[in-house]
Amino acid sequence: MQPQVVTFDAGHTLIELDLEFLARRLGERGVHVEPGALDAAAPAAWRLYDELAATADHPWKELMNALLSGAGVMEPKPHVDWLWDQQREHNLWRTPMPGMVERARDLAGRGVVCAVLSNSEGTLQKLLERIGIADPFRTIIDSGNLPFAKPDARIFHHTLEVLGLPDARPVHIGDSWSADVEAALAVGWDAIWYRSRGGAPGKELNVPIAHDPAEARAALATFGL
Ligand SMILES: [Mg+2]
Repeated sequence: MQPQVVTFDAGHTLIELDLEFLARRLGERGVHVEPGALDAAAPAAWRLYDELAATADHPWKELMNALLSGAGVMEPKPHVDWLWDQQREHNLWRTPMPGMVERARDLAGRGVVCAVLSNSEGTLQKLLERIGIADPFRTIIDSGNLPFAKPDARIFHHTLEVLGLPDARPVHIGDSWSADVEAALAVGWDAIWYRSRGGAPGKELNVPIAHDPAEARAALATFGL
């Protein structure tokens, strides 16, 4: 029998932005900002990111720019450029979301094939190993090592090729409405919208929505998982 497959997005599904680490990195450049100020600025920065994600040249930098200026950093642009240059080696998304990692371990323990499917910078496998959460995943697909990224259908097909399960119909779980939910549905997969940081869909589609790991478990159960 064909095994069931669940793919997880990484940022804001398995790992989140480490604001204390971000504050420390800025401190290395003589910029002093409290993690609490970054936390307070985060909701507005994410709203901007969601508005710009489809059109901005570099949504990551737009997000970081809004986060830093919202936290009171004057002229954040050179710091944002530096943080981006550093991102491969010093990924700012490094705090595990324990409940979701537990979901993946639970699924893997029951014979479900789990994989990560992420738009990242090419060093995600190393990061997940370093923070101790790579174990449930049979493969970690990182767009930084590929000529395509979500929402491109090719990265979804590529994931199944790497898994050796070209005919599987996975459930993909992720926080980006366009890159995770709509893109997965467009290639014939099922999807769960992991609404860990709010955000609004471009249009209503009939997919399960989970706001926390307990709801993710209930959503997975609707697919018999
Ligand atoms: Mg994400």
